[in-house]
Amino acid sequence: MKYDFDLFTIGGGSGGVRASRVCAALGARVAVAESGRFGGTCVNVGCIPKKLFSYAAHFRDELKDAADFGWSVAEPTFDWEKLLENKEREITRLNGVYERVLASAGVAIFRGRAVIMDPHAVSLDGKSYSARHILVATGSWPQKPDIPGANLAITSNEAFFLEKLPRRALIVGGGYIAVEFASIFNGLGVKTTLAYRGAQLLRGFDADLGTRLADEMSRKGVSVLLKKNPSKIEKGLHVTFEDGSTEKFDLVMFATGRKPNTAGLGLEAAGVKLGADGAVMVNEYSTSTVDSIHAIGDVTNRLNLTPVATAEGMALAKTLFGGKPTPVDHENVPTAVFANPNLATVGLSEAKARERFGKVDIYKTAFRSLKHTMGASEEKIFMKLVVDAASQRVVGAHMLGPDAGELIQGIAIAVKLGATKAQFDATIGIHPTAAEEFVTMREKSA
Ligand SMILES: Cc1cc2nc3c(=O)[nH]c(=O)nc-3n(C[C@H](O)[C@H](O)[C@H](O)COP(=O)(O)OP(=O)(O)OC[C@H]3O[C@@H](n4cnc5c(N)ncnc54)[C@H](O)[C@@H]3O)c2cc1C
Repeated sequence: MKYDFDLFTIGGGSGGVRASRVCAALGARVAVAESGRFGGTCVNVGCIPKKLFSYAAHFRDELKDAADFGWSVAEPTFDWEKLLENKEREITRLNGVYERVLASAGVAIFRGRAVIMDPHAVSLDGKSYSARHILVATGSWPQKPDIPGANLAITSNEAFFLEKLPRRALIVGGGYIAVEFASIFNGLGVKTTLAYRGAQLLRGFDADLGTRLADEMSRKGVSVLLKKNPSKIEKGLHVTFEDGSTEKFDLVMFATGRKPNTAGLGLEAAGVKLGADGAVMVNEYSTSTVDSIHAIGDVTNRLNLTPVATAEGMALAKTLFGGKPTPVDHENVPTAVFANPNLATVGLSEAKARERFGKVDIYKTAFRSLKHTMGASEEKIFMKLVVDAASQRVVGAHMLGPDAGELIQGIAIAVKLGATKAQFDATIGIHPTAAEEFVTMREKSA
């Protein structure tokens, strides 16, 4: 049978664009449908604008530090509109880059919402297209809790387009998006409260990171309230919490999780099995329960990060059109949280390592950076290595401190290669840096 396309991709975000481009380069006839802006969540309402906002917010500390080095800095003022305008210019540029990359690879571009009709057909704007393979790369969407007045609150989607900065903001949640936005608002001069129903920030990360981040954020002025959860929001943004307390805010933002974008896509009717959370169930090659329908990225709810979505896209291209079935290795994926301070991690938390290996050696250090010895900042850099006691392999590396992501990216290579603690120790440090501590930690703390 002759199909209109070899591959029809639904969703022009991180995963969909990469998979489409690479499949086309391998000779496939590819189409992609995008209902919003090219680049998806990461480019438009995720990683990129978030990091730009976070740079903006962190300047507050930099300006303070500059004074300790002899600079006279006038009382700084901040222009939100200017930040939005410059951010929008950069995002629009990226939208164009993504679209051009597809067009120059020969991918047919459709604008609009696509729906699956059967295992080999996609419909869009009243027309139907046949495809040998269909790729679902529709991403995920933020969720709000089911409490009265939840509609009065925003999510991260809207936070990128606020007309003006609020005076008092409440961020609800304890995951990475919550702590990043709490740091952003606080840094930009908003009186910020972070309320999380759990006892510890950043579930899933090493516990020391969550505890230390809460301390550092509190020191920087965020009111971090643990075991605190709103039960209702009334007009005027009067928030009542489960413990009966009330407070008024000018902005409430929920960062309470995301749900895979599968509703109304026609997946179940086509025979595709979805998980309880709505995620497309896939095997290690990103193929669903229907042989011709595949899914990558957030819609599969495996590891919801941009580089993971693009790696899944590349692997799928090799599997479908490169003659080389390629699974994606989801082990030891490094990740960063751009809170203030930043943190980053690769491998296992201490708790997970203990579960897996039984006996582990722990090395930790906490210190003021050289830069901060010049002033009053009490911020501490924290580093931790988790080592499997039997093999002496470093199975986890964790850091809280400036540019943690830049540093952990390098350490991740060593962890991925199975480096031992002795090999870390045999590596000579770069002096004077914070990073050198990763190769000079000698005292076991547990
Ligand atoms: C606030 C925030 C910050 C983040 N920060 C980071 C970070 O720092 N680092 C990191 O690695 N990850 C980060 N992420 C996660 C990252 O953005 C996602 O993991 C990544 O975008 C997933 O890519 P994807 O291709 O699966 O989906 P997406 O990028 O979401 O793309 C899906 C696309 O599909 C389109 N679509 C949906 N349904 C249809 C349809 N029926 N027809 C046509 N098009 C459709 C959507 O419009 C969208 O453009 C962040 C996410 C958020 C929300």
